[in-house]
Amino acid sequence: MKQLDWLLRDCLNAATGERVQIGIRDGKIAFMEAGAGEGSTVSASHKADNELDASEYTAMPGLIETHIHLDKAFLTERMPGEAADLKEAISMTAELKSGYSPEDILSRSRKLLDRASRFGVTRMRTQVEIDPVLRLMSWHSAVELKKEYEGKLDLQLVAFPQEGIFWQPGTAQLLEEAAREGADAIGGVPYNDRDSLEHLEYVFRLAESFGLPVDLHLDFSDDPEQLAILDVISLTKKYGLQGRVAVGHLTSLGSAELDTAKRIAAEMAEADIHVFTLPATDLYLNGRQDTCRIRRGLTPVRALLDAGVNVCFGSNNVRNAFTPFGTGDPLDIALLLAQTAHMGSAREARLLADMCTTNAARALGSRGTKGLFPGEPADLVLVKADGILDVIYDRPRERLVWKSGERIY
Ligand SMILES: [Zn+2]
Repeated sequence: MKQLDWLLRDCLNAATGERVQIGIRDGKIAFMEAGAGEGSTVSASHKADNELDASEYTAMPGLIETHIHLDKAFLTERMPGEAADLKEAISMTAELKSGYSPEDILSRSRKLLDRASRFGVTRMRTQVEIDPVLRLMSWHSAVELKKEYEGKLDLQLVAFPQEGIFWQPGTAQLLEEAAREGADAIGGVPYNDRDSLEHLEYVFRLAESFGLPVDLHLDFSDDPEQLAILDVISLTKKYGLQGRVAVGHLTSLGSAELDTAKRIAAEMAEADIHVFTLPATDLYLNGRQDTCRIRRGLTPVRALLDAGVNVCFGSNNVRNAFTPFGTGDPLDIALLLAQTAHMGSAREARLLADMCTTNAARALGSRGTKGLFPGEPADLVLVKADGILDVIYDRPRERLVWKSGERIY
Protein backbone atom coordinates (compact mmCIF):
# COMPACT_ATOMS: atom_id res chain seq x y z
CA MET A 1 0.00 0.00 0.00
CA LYS A 2 1.14 3.53 -0.82
CA GLN A 3 2.79 5.19 2.13
CA LEU A 4 1.02 7.85 4.13
CA ASP A 5 1.10 11.50 3.12
CA TRP A 6 1.06 12.55 6.75
CA LEU A 7 1.41 10.95 10.15
CA LEU A 8 0.34 13.21 13.02
CA ARG A 9 1.72 11.71 16.18
CA ASP A 10 0.34 11.90 19.69
CA CYS A 11 -2.24 14.67 19.32
CA LEU A 12 -5.28 14.87 21.60
CA ASN A 13 -8.57 13.98 19.96
CA ALA A 14 -10.95 16.87 20.82
CA ALA A 15 -13.96 14.54 20.76
CA THR A 16 -12.65 11.90 23.16
CA GLY A 17 -9.73 13.47 25.02
CA GLU A 18 -7.55 10.48 24.05
CA ARG A 19 -4.08 10.63 22.56
CA VAL A 20 -4.24 9.47 18.97
CA GLN A 21 -2.11 8.85 15.92
CA ILE A 22 -3.69 10.16 12.73
CA GLY A 23 -2.65 8.88 9.31
CA ILE A 24 -3.61 10.81 6.16
CA ARG A 25 -3.51 9.38 2.67
CA ASP A 26 -5.02 10.55 -0.65
CA GLY A 27 -7.06 13.33 0.93
CA LYS A 28 -8.67 11.11 3.51
CA ILE A 29 -8.07 10.01 7.06
CA ALA A 30 -6.45 6.62 6.57
CA PHE A 31 -6.52 5.63 10.22
CA MET A 32 -6.97 6.92 13.73
CA GLU A 33 -5.42 4.90 16.47
CA ALA A 34 -5.68 5.57 20.16
CA GLY A 35 -2.49 5.23 22.13
CA ALA A 36 0.51 7.38 22.68
CA GLY A 37 4.19 7.42 22.38
CA GLU A 38 7.15 6.28 20.41
CA GLY A 39 6.34 2.62 20.82
CA SER A 40 2.91 2.90 19.23
CA THR A 41 2.36 0.07 16.79
CA VAL A 42 0.99 2.50 14.23
CA SER A 43 4.02 4.77 14.28
CA ALA A 44 6.27 1.75 13.91
CA SER A 45 4.41 0.06 11.09
CA HIS A 46 3.54 3.00 8.81
CA LYS A 47 5.89 5.08 6.75
CA ALA A 48 4.84 8.62 5.95
CA ASP A 49 6.16 11.29 3.59
CA ASN A 50 5.67 13.80 6.39
CA GLU A 51 5.61 13.17 10.11
CA LEU A 52 4.71 15.65 12.79
CA ASP A 53 5.09 15.51 16.54
CA ALA A 54 1.65 16.89 17.42
CA SER A 55 1.82 16.21 21.14
CA GLU A 56 1.16 19.87 22.00
CA TYR A 57 -1.96 20.02 19.82
CA THR A 58 -5.64 19.10 20.00
CA ALA A 59 -7.11 17.74 16.75
CA MET A 60 -10.56 18.69 15.45
CA PRO A 61 -12.31 18.29 12.12
CA GLY A 62 -11.97 21.37 9.88
CA LEU A 63 -14.18 24.17 11.24
CA ILE A 64 -17.39 25.03 9.42
CA GLU A 65 -18.82 28.53 9.12
CA THR A 66 -22.54 27.99 8.55
CA HIS A 67 -23.76 31.56 7.99
CA ILE A 68 -21.69 34.55 6.93
CA HIS A 69 -22.01 37.61 4.69
CA LEU A 70 -18.77 38.09 2.78
CA ASP A 71 -20.16 40.81 0.52
CA LYS A 72 -20.98 43.20 3.35
CA ALA A 73 -17.97 42.53 5.58
CA PHE A 74 -15.67 45.39 6.62
CA LEU A 75 -18.03 48.28 5.96
CA THR A 76 -17.84 50.09 9.32
CA GLU A 77 -15.57 52.85 8.03
CA ARG A 78 -18.15 53.77 5.38
CA MET A 79 -21.07 54.01 7.79
CA PRO A 80 -22.43 57.40 8.83
CA GLY A 81 -22.89 56.16 12.42
CA GLU A 82 -24.11 53.29 14.55
CA ALA A 83 -27.38 51.54 13.60
CA ALA A 84 -30.11 51.93 16.23
CA ASP A 85 -31.82 48.64 15.35
CA LEU A 86 -32.21 45.96 12.68
CA LYS A 87 -34.31 48.18 10.42
CA GLU A 88 -31.68 50.89 10.44
CA ALA A 89 -28.86 48.37 9.90
CA ILE A 90 -30.68 47.13 6.77
CA SER A 91 -31.36 50.63 5.40
CA MET A 92 -27.87 51.94 6.24
CA THR A 93 -26.25 49.01 4.45
CA ALA A 94 -28.61 49.30 1.46
CA GLU A 95 -27.44 52.93 1.06
CA LEU A 96 -23.83 51.76 0.73
CA LYS A 97 -24.58 49.27 -2.04
CA SER A 98 -24.47 51.80 -4.86
CA GLY A 99 -20.78 52.28 -3.99
CA TYR A 100 -19.88 48.59 -4.44
CA SER A 101 -17.84 47.38 -7.38
CA PRO A 102 -16.79 43.80 -8.17
CA GLU A 103 -13.20 44.60 -7.08
CA ASP A 104 -14.45 46.07 -3.80
CA ILE A 105 -16.63 43.03 -3.02
CA LEU A 106 -13.82 40.64 -3.95
CA SER A 107 -11.20 42.36 -1.82
CA ARG A 108 -13.39 42.61 1.31
CA SER A 109 -14.52 39.01 0.84
CA ARG A 110 -10.95 37.72 0.40
CA LYS A 111 -9.87 39.49 3.59
CA LEU A 112 -12.49 37.54 5.55
CA LEU A 113 -11.98 34.25 3.68
CA ASP A 114 -8.21 34.38 4.32
CA ARG A 115 -8.72 35.06 8.01
CA ALA A 116 -11.29 32.28 8.37
CA SER A 117 -9.08 29.84 6.50
CA ARG A 118 -6.13 30.56 8.81
CA PHE A 119 -8.41 29.94 11.82
CA GLY A 120 -9.12 26.46 10.42
CA VAL A 121 -12.36 26.99 8.50
CA THR A 122 -12.43 24.44 5.69
CA ARG A 123 -16.11 24.82 4.74
CA MET A 124 -18.33 27.88 4.66
CA ARG A 125 -21.84 28.81 3.57
CA THR A 126 -22.17 32.44 2.53
CA GLN A 127 -25.32 34.50 1.94
CA VAL A 128 -24.94 36.39 -1.34
CA GLU A 129 -27.08 39.50 -1.85
CA ILE A 130 -29.27 39.70 -4.91
CA ASP A 131 -31.45 42.77 -5.51
CA PRO A 132 -32.31 45.28 -8.27
CA VAL A 133 -29.37 47.56 -7.30
CA LEU A 134 -26.56 45.00 -7.19
CA ARG A 135 -28.34 42.67 -9.61
CA LEU A 136 -25.87 39.73 -9.94
CA MET A 137 -22.68 41.70 -9.15
CA SER A 138 -22.20 40.14 -5.75
CA TRP A 139 -23.33 36.77 -7.07
CA HIS A 140 -20.73 36.68 -9.83
CA SER A 141 -18.01 37.74 -7.38
CA ALA A 142 -19.00 34.87 -5.09
CA VAL A 143 -18.94 32.38 -7.97
CA GLU A 144 -15.40 33.58 -8.76
CA LEU A 145 -14.35 33.19 -5.11
CA LYS A 146 -15.80 29.69 -4.92
CA LYS A 147 -13.42 28.65 -7.73
CA GLU A 148 -10.51 30.66 -6.40
CA TYR A 149 -10.64 29.02 -2.94
CA GLU A 150 -11.15 25.46 -4.19
CA GLY A 151 -8.70 23.17 -2.42
CA LYS A 152 -8.48 25.55 0.52
CA LEU A 153 -12.07 26.05 1.60
CA ASP A 154 -15.35 24.71 0.19
CA LEU A 155 -17.70 27.61 -0.33
CA GLN A 156 -21.48 27.12 -0.56
CA LEU A 157 -23.44 30.02 -2.04
CA VAL A 158 -26.94 30.99 -0.90
CA ALA A 159 -28.92 33.21 -3.30
CA PHE A 160 -30.18 35.76 -0.77
CA PRO A 161 -32.81 38.47 -1.48
CA GLN A 162 -31.88 40.79 1.45
CA GLU A 163 -34.18 43.62 0.31
CA GLY A 164 -37.22 41.35 -0.16
CA ILE A 165 -38.64 39.75 -3.30
CA PHE A 166 -42.07 41.20 -4.00
CA TRP A 167 -41.54 44.82 -3.07
CA GLN A 168 -38.36 44.81 -5.20
CA PRO A 169 -39.56 44.01 -8.74
CA GLY A 170 -37.02 42.06 -10.76
CA THR A 171 -35.57 40.21 -7.75
CA ALA A 172 -37.43 36.97 -8.47
CA GLN A 173 -35.96 36.75 -11.99
CA LEU A 174 -32.46 37.43 -10.63
CA LEU A 175 -32.86 34.71 -7.98
CA GLU A 176 -33.91 32.25 -10.66
CA GLU A 177 -30.85 33.18 -12.71
CA ALA A 178 -28.59 32.55 -9.70
CA ALA A 179 -30.31 29.21 -9.12
CA ARG A 180 -29.57 28.25 -12.73
CA GLU A 181 -25.96 29.42 -12.31
CA GLY A 182 -25.28 26.93 -9.53
CA ALA A 183 -26.64 28.23 -6.22
CA ASP A 184 -26.14 25.76 -3.38
CA ALA A 185 -29.26 26.94 -1.53
CA ILE A 186 -32.12 29.41 -1.85
CA GLY A 187 -32.23 32.10 0.84
CA GLY A 188 -35.05 34.26 2.09
CA VAL A 189 -35.90 37.00 4.53
CA PRO A 190 -39.70 37.00 5.05
CA TYR A 191 -39.58 39.79 7.68
CA ASN A 192 -38.33 42.18 5.02
CA ASP A 193 -41.04 41.85 2.37
CA ARG A 194 -44.66 42.87 1.81
CA ASP A 195 -46.04 39.51 2.95
CA SER A 196 -44.14 36.88 4.93
CA LEU A 197 -46.09 33.83 3.73
CA GLU A 198 -46.03 34.91 0.09
CA HIS A 199 -42.25 35.30 0.37
CA LEU A 200 -41.79 31.88 1.97
CA GLU A 201 -44.02 30.11 -0.52
CA TYR A 202 -42.00 31.58 -3.37
CA VAL A 203 -38.68 30.51 -1.80
CA PHE A 204 -39.86 26.92 -1.20
CA ARG A 205 -41.29 26.62 -4.72
CA LEU A 206 -38.04 27.88 -6.24
CA ALA A 207 -35.96 25.52 -4.08
CA GLU A 208 -38.15 22.59 -5.06
CA SER A 209 -37.95 23.34 -8.78
CA PHE A 210 -34.13 23.39 -8.66
CA GLY A 211 -33.81 20.54 -6.15
CA LEU A 212 -32.03 22.84 -3.67
CA PRO A 213 -32.10 23.26 0.10
CA VAL A 214 -33.57 26.35 1.80
CA ASP A 215 -31.59 28.62 4.13
CA LEU A 216 -33.62 31.46 5.66
CA HIS A 217 -33.15 34.52 7.78
CA LEU A 218 -36.16 34.13 10.05
CA ASP A 219 -38.06 35.70 12.96
CA PHE A 220 -35.29 38.15 13.79
CA SER A 221 -37.02 40.21 16.50
CA ASP A 222 -37.98 40.28 20.17
CA ASP A 223 -41.67 39.94 19.24
CA PRO A 224 -43.01 36.57 20.45
CA GLU A 225 -45.84 36.88 17.92
CA GLN A 226 -43.47 36.94 14.93
CA LEU A 227 -43.53 33.19 14.35
CA ALA A 228 -43.00 32.58 10.64
CA ILE A 229 -41.31 29.40 11.83
CA LEU A 230 -44.80 27.84 11.97
CA ASP A 231 -45.21 28.45 8.22
CA VAL A 232 -41.69 27.12 7.62
CA ILE A 233 -42.54 23.89 9.46
CA SER A 234 -45.68 23.42 7.29
CA LEU A 235 -43.85 24.22 4.05
CA THR A 236 -40.94 21.91 4.92
CA LYS A 237 -43.40 19.04 5.29
CA LYS A 238 -45.46 20.06 2.26
CA TYR A 239 -42.40 20.07 -0.02
CA GLY A 240 -40.75 17.04 1.61
CA LEU A 241 -37.67 19.10 2.48
CA GLN A 242 -37.06 17.53 5.90
CA GLY A 243 -33.34 17.83 6.75
CA ARG A 244 -32.80 20.39 3.97
CA VAL A 245 -34.10 23.55 5.62
CA ALA A 246 -32.07 25.82 7.89
CA VAL A 247 -33.17 28.97 9.70
CA GLY A 248 -30.86 31.70 10.98
CA HIS A 249 -31.61 33.98 13.98
CA LEU A 250 -35.04 32.65 15.11
CA THR A 251 -34.81 35.04 18.03
CA SER A 252 -38.55 35.73 18.39
CA LEU A 253 -38.87 32.19 19.70
CA GLY A 254 -36.58 33.23 22.56
CA SER A 255 -39.19 35.80 23.64
CA ALA A 256 -42.05 33.30 23.51
CA GLU A 257 -43.27 31.55 26.68
CA LEU A 258 -41.12 28.50 27.34
CA ASP A 259 -44.02 26.06 26.84
CA THR A 260 -44.72 27.57 23.43
CA ALA A 261 -41.02 27.46 22.52
CA LYS A 262 -40.81 23.81 23.58
CA ARG A 263 -43.87 22.84 21.57
CA ILE A 264 -42.52 24.56 18.45
CA ALA A 265 -39.04 23.10 19.02
CA ALA A 266 -40.57 19.60 19.06
CA GLU A 267 -42.31 20.29 15.74
CA MET A 268 -39.04 21.61 14.29
CA ALA A 269 -37.20 18.47 15.40
CA GLU A 270 -39.84 16.35 13.71
CA ALA A 271 -39.41 18.32 10.46
CA ASP A 272 -35.60 18.11 10.92
CA ILE A 273 -35.12 21.88 10.52
CA HIS A 274 -31.61 23.09 11.37
CA VAL A 275 -31.06 26.30 13.37
CA PHE A 276 -28.13 28.68 12.94
CA THR A 277 -27.95 30.86 16.01
CA LEU A 278 -26.01 34.07 15.29
CA PRO A 279 -25.24 35.38 18.77
CA ALA A 280 -22.85 38.22 17.88
CA THR A 281 -25.58 39.96 15.85
CA ASP A 282 -28.57 38.80 17.89
CA LEU A 283 -27.16 40.01 21.21
CA TYR A 284 -26.13 43.29 19.62
CA LEU A 285 -29.31 44.24 17.75
CA ASN A 286 -32.06 42.73 19.89
CA GLY A 287 -33.34 43.95 23.24
CA ARG A 288 -32.97 47.57 22.12
CA GLN A 289 -36.50 48.58 23.10
CA ASP A 290 -36.38 46.95 26.55
CA THR A 291 -35.95 49.52 29.30
CA CYS A 292 -35.45 47.01 32.10
CA ARG A 293 -34.89 43.23 32.25
CA ILE A 294 -33.23 43.60 28.86
CA ARG A 295 -33.55 40.37 26.89
CA ARG A 296 -30.51 38.63 25.45
CA GLY A 297 -32.27 38.25 22.13
CA LEU A 298 -31.06 34.73 21.40
CA THR A 299 -33.04 31.79 20.12
CA PRO A 300 -33.85 29.37 22.99
CA VAL A 301 -30.79 27.20 22.39
CA ARG A 302 -31.36 24.88 25.32
CA ALA A 303 -35.04 24.17 24.51
CA LEU A 304 -34.14 23.49 20.88
CA LEU A 305 -31.29 21.15 21.79
CA ASP A 306 -33.43 19.35 24.37
CA ALA A 307 -36.08 18.78 21.69
CA GLY A 308 -33.46 17.23 19.43
CA VAL A 309 -33.08 20.12 16.96
CA ASN A 310 -29.70 20.37 15.21
CA VAL A 311 -28.49 23.78 16.45
CA CYS A 312 -25.31 25.23 14.94
CA PHE A 313 -23.90 28.73 15.09
CA GLY A 314 -22.39 31.26 12.73
CA SER A 315 -20.52 34.57 12.65
CA ASN A 316 -23.13 36.22 10.40
CA ASN A 317 -21.36 39.55 9.98
CA VAL A 318 -17.94 41.01 10.58
CA ARG A 319 -17.54 44.77 10.98
CA ASN A 320 -20.68 46.32 9.59
CA ALA A 321 -23.93 47.89 10.77
CA PHE A 322 -25.34 44.52 11.89
CA THR A 323 -22.22 43.52 13.83
CA PRO A 324 -19.50 46.15 14.22
CA PHE A 325 -17.02 43.57 15.54
CA GLY A 326 -16.01 39.97 14.85
CA THR A 327 -13.03 38.03 13.59
CA GLY A 328 -14.37 35.21 11.42
CA ASP A 329 -13.12 32.65 13.96
CA PRO A 330 -15.92 30.16 14.75
CA LEU A 331 -14.27 29.47 18.11
CA ASP A 332 -14.93 33.09 19.16
CA ILE A 333 -18.62 32.51 18.50
CA ALA A 334 -18.46 29.19 20.38
CA LEU A 335 -17.21 30.98 23.49
CA LEU A 336 -19.81 33.75 23.13
CA LEU A 337 -22.53 31.13 22.93
CA ALA A 338 -21.12 29.25 25.93
CA GLN A 339 -21.34 32.46 27.95
CA THR A 340 -24.78 33.60 26.79
CA ALA A 341 -26.67 30.31 26.33
CA HIS A 342 -25.55 28.84 29.68
CA MET A 343 -23.26 26.17 28.19
CA GLY A 344 -20.45 25.84 30.70
CA SER A 345 -19.90 22.12 31.22
CA ALA A 346 -17.20 19.96 29.64
CA ARG A 347 -19.93 18.04 27.82
CA GLU A 348 -21.21 21.32 26.41
CA ALA A 349 -17.72 22.36 25.33
CA ARG A 350 -17.61 19.19 23.21
CA LEU A 351 -21.11 19.98 21.91
CA LEU A 352 -19.96 23.50 20.93
CA ALA A 353 -17.12 21.87 18.97
CA ASP A 354 -19.63 19.57 17.22
CA MET A 355 -21.83 22.57 16.43
CA CYS A 356 -19.09 24.06 14.24
CA THR A 357 -17.87 20.75 12.79
CA THR A 358 -19.87 17.52 12.48
CA ASN A 359 -23.33 18.95 13.24
CA ALA A 360 -22.67 21.86 10.88
CA ALA A 361 -21.65 19.37 8.17
CA ARG A 362 -25.04 17.70 8.54
CA ALA A 363 -26.85 21.06 8.31
CA LEU A 364 -24.93 21.93 5.15
CA GLY A 365 -25.69 18.53 3.65
CA SER A 366 -21.99 17.96 3.14
CA ARG A 367 -19.63 15.11 3.85
CA GLY A 368 -17.62 14.84 7.04
CA THR A 369 -20.50 14.30 9.42
CA LYS A 370 -18.54 11.67 11.34
CA GLY A 371 -15.61 14.00 12.05
CA LEU A 372 -12.16 12.56 12.60
CA PHE A 373 -12.80 9.03 11.47
CA PRO A 374 -11.14 6.67 8.97
CA GLY A 375 -12.50 7.22 5.47
CA GLU A 376 -13.66 10.77 6.18
CA PRO A 377 -12.09 13.70 4.29
CA ALA A 378 -8.82 14.86 5.82
CA ASP A 379 -10.08 18.37 6.63
CA LEU A 380 -8.66 19.04 10.04
CA VAL A 381 -7.25 21.65 12.33
CA LEU A 382 -4.68 21.13 15.06
CA VAL A 383 -5.04 23.76 17.77
CA LYS A 384 -2.13 24.32 20.14
CA ALA A 385 -4.16 23.46 23.22
CA ASP A 386 -4.38 20.85 25.93
CA GLY A 387 -7.85 19.49 25.23
CA ILE A 388 -11.27 20.78 24.28
CA LEU A 389 -11.78 23.20 27.21
CA ASP A 390 -8.59 25.06 26.29
CA VAL A 391 -9.65 25.07 22.63
CA ILE A 392 -13.01 26.73 23.36
CA TYR A 393 -12.06 28.97 26.27
CA ASP A 394 -8.58 30.10 25.13
CA ARG A 395 -9.12 29.94 21.35
CA PRO A 396 -5.36 29.74 20.72
CA ARG A 397 -4.44 31.27 17.39
CA GLU A 398 -1.62 28.80 16.79
CA ARG A 399 -3.34 26.39 14.43
CA LEU A 400 -2.21 23.96 11.72
CA VAL A 401 -4.75 23.37 8.98
CA TRP A 402 -5.20 20.55 6.48
CA LYS A 403 -7.71 20.64 3.63
CA SER A 404 -8.35 17.39 1.74
CA GLY A 405 -5.07 16.02 3.09
CA GLU A 406 -2.96 19.04 2.01
CA ARG A 407 -1.42 21.17 4.72
CA ILE A 408 -2.43 24.74 3.94
CA TYR A 409 -1.26 26.46 7.14
ZN1 LIG B 1 -27.30 36.74 7.96
